Amino acid sequence: MPDEGSRSVTLSFEKSAAFYAQAMRSVAGGVNSNVRYGESPPLFFDRAEGPRLHDVDGNVLIDFVLGNGPAILGHAAPSVIGPVAASLGAGQSIAGQHRGEIELAERLQRIIPSADLVRFSVTGSEAVHAAIRLARGYTGRTKFVKFEGQYHGWLDNVFISTKPGLNEAGPQAAPEAVLMSRGQPERVKDELIVLPWNDTAALARALEAHGADIAAVVTEPVMCNAGVIPPRPGYLEAMRKLCSETGTVLIFDEVITGFRLGLGGAQARFGITPDLSVFAKAIANGFPLSIVAGKRAIMELVEAKGHVVHSGTYNGNMTSVTAALATLEALGADPQNYARMEARGERLMEGLRHSARRHGRDLLVQGFGAVFCTLFTSAKEVTDFRSMAAADAARMTAFAAALARNGVRTTPRGVWFMSMAHGDNEIDATLAAADRAIAEL
Ligand code: PMP
Repeated sequence: MPDEGSRSVTLSFEKSAAFYAQAMRSVAGGVNSNVRYGESPPLFFDRAEGPRLHDVDGNVLIDFVLGNGPAILGHAAPSVIGPVAASLGAGQSIAGQHRGEIELAERLQRIIPSADLVRFSVTGSEAVHAAIRLARGYTGRTKFVKFEGQYHGWLDNVFISTKPGLNEAGPQAAPEAVLMSRGQPERVKDELIVLPWNDTAALARALEAHGADIAAVVTEPVMCNAGVIPPRPGYLEAMRKLCSETGTVLIFDEVITGFRLGLGGAQARFGITPDLSVFAKAIANGFPLSIVAGKRAIMELVEAKGHVVHSGTYNGNMTSVTAALATLEALGADPQNYARMEARGERLMEGLRHSARRHGRDLLVQGFGAVFCTLFTSAKEVTDFRSMAAADAARMTAFAAALARNGVRTTPRGVWFMSMAHGDNEIDATLAAADRAIAEL
């Protein structure tokens, strides 16, 4: 579809709205993950293929949501679904071991700097949970540090201060822990210390004051869920040094950055090796698989005698492991794969900046070609949650809605995911659509 996007289109989503109304009568709240409420109406799709989505209204959208990150090879990538389809007859979950688990683990050992040993789970949330339990089991300490604005899943102990209201978030240098859901027990706030990200002095102060109680520092190495904020030069290095000095386990949550900022994740890209790391999303191109990887001395605690328990009915299931092996094979097939994807993403970023300038809009586009964020703010950069929260979120949601009407789907919070299936045609079409969408705002 070479001229896609150059045509002016205004898509409507009436059938999605009708299905949403129908879903409300059987699915609590009409959707199965609260993250999906940002879109209005929540869209219903028949098919996802390569960089495109086909919705129930017959619309075709170029997709930069990619399932919130997983579909790095494009949806239903033939290189993945072929081997998966061929594997299905051999079974799925057998509560026993199979050779694919060893093959995948050995590959990960070669690719991921921190992976002396690995364990497989299903979702990112539970893998983060496992990493925190391992850190506590290893250190004998209870508390952990998490950063304001970072998301590590929806479970009680980490779904804190991910997007706090500024009226209840306390001072910038020492934020309050703010629960993000009704039903979370108040006591979980006592188990963590919330800090501003990209602030070495704040981390040094916290570790000095409470180091003896702090089992782990949990961080996204790039703050992908809030502004796709890169670490300041030297920040991850300082984090590594402070954790080593205080015997604190450094946990990188690479659920988004993993297999996206390069095959070895952010840790390989920035050259900082955490003690434990968590991966999910892009590892299996949409099949559910997560990984806890880490130093031998910590990971060994899950051995039968180690007394740190990690389990799960679906862990290491044949389907997801087959998908992950096929995904790794495709990602690594050509050493230029990542560079090409990043270059296309960077062209998209630059084109969006250009459009915004042309229409006199303050649009900040920051991050990496593989994952970036658009924010309506006059700031030249955002470096932490507070500076990101000053952006006009309602305008971003309106921009995402205008993009959808023009045939492009991105997240209402402004995070764009690239895939290797997005070619130059899709980038050109997206830039044309984005220019119309910005004009409509
Ligand atoms: N950590 C990060 C950085 C994430 O982005 C997410 C999901 N968006 C999670 C953890 C939780 O993963 P899951 O949704 O698979 O539980």
